[in-house]
Amino acid sequence: MSVPPPIHTEDVISAEPHPRPDGPPSYLSPSSASTFEQCQRRWKFRYVDRLPDPPGEKALIGTFVHRVLEELFARAEPDRSIETARHIARQVWPEIENDQAYKALNVEAEHGRRVRWDGWRLVEAYFAMERPDEIDVVEREQRIETQLGDVPFVGVVDRVERRDGSLVVTDYKTGRAPNSRYEADRLHQVQLYAAALDSMGARPDTARLLYLGARSIEADVTSETIDAAVGSISATWSAVNAALDVGEFDPCTGPLCAWCPYDDRCPEGTVEIERRYGPR
Ligand code: SF4
Repeated sequence: MSVPPPIHTEDVISAEPHPRPDGPPSYLSPSSASTFEQCQRRWKFRYVDRLPDPPGEKALIGTFVHRVLEELFARAEPDRSIETARHIARQVWPEIENDQAYKALNVEAEHGRRVRWDGWRLVEAYFAMERPDEIDVVEREQRIETQLGDVPFVGVVDRVERRDGSLVVTDYKTGRAPNSRYEADRLHQVQLYAAALDSMGARPDTARLLYLGARSIEADVTSETIDAAVGSISATWSAVNAALDVGEFDPCTGPLCAWCPYDDRCPEGTVEIERRYGPR
């Protein structure tokens, strides 16, 4: 099989815009916009029909790592040591184990220890990338609700920090770092966050993705990047509303169908998976 889709940790923490109780979502988040852009039908299953899309093991590992880093950056600078992180990890892990999504994975105890270990190794890898006691944190896990152009936008920003007098918005990633050709594409989400912060009067200078255990990539935030981010999500919002108006949500088949939780409801997706990987 090909490489699995990137994990939007936002999907499994508090950021996800829940649909209105009486209808389709009244706003977009980076992950819901990304789902719509990837496949309208999948978006409809999730955000209109509200069918479950439980996070898998890797997404739960991402949640664990985000929680540990969130708590680490709640401490004063001198206390942001790896020993403190280990202590936090011990406190946070039961939250993950008690999560319904984790329980649904039904993992054996030994496998569970491996999942926890995989998460912890990412935290260790983080410490090899930067010194948390030197980060001048302005915000962490900041929930944002704002208007981007005509789009009601909701998201959670992992971290905003001050660096040499400028403002940096950072998003942690637990997946694989992209090939250099795809860096701009991957930065799109954090540029959206930059645009959202700008709309609230706090324009960052840099948008950065921190691939734990690998490297970080970053780009300047400018009027052009903000206009591009707002233009892009506005186009998606228009397409969402057009699809809702006519009730048509086109399938977009491809390798991601193999990771779609709704493939058994989607004839085109089933055909695509069998074409790629053989009869099931
Ligand atoms: S199976 Fe493929 S085409 Fe069907 S909803 Fe899922 S991602 Fe879209």
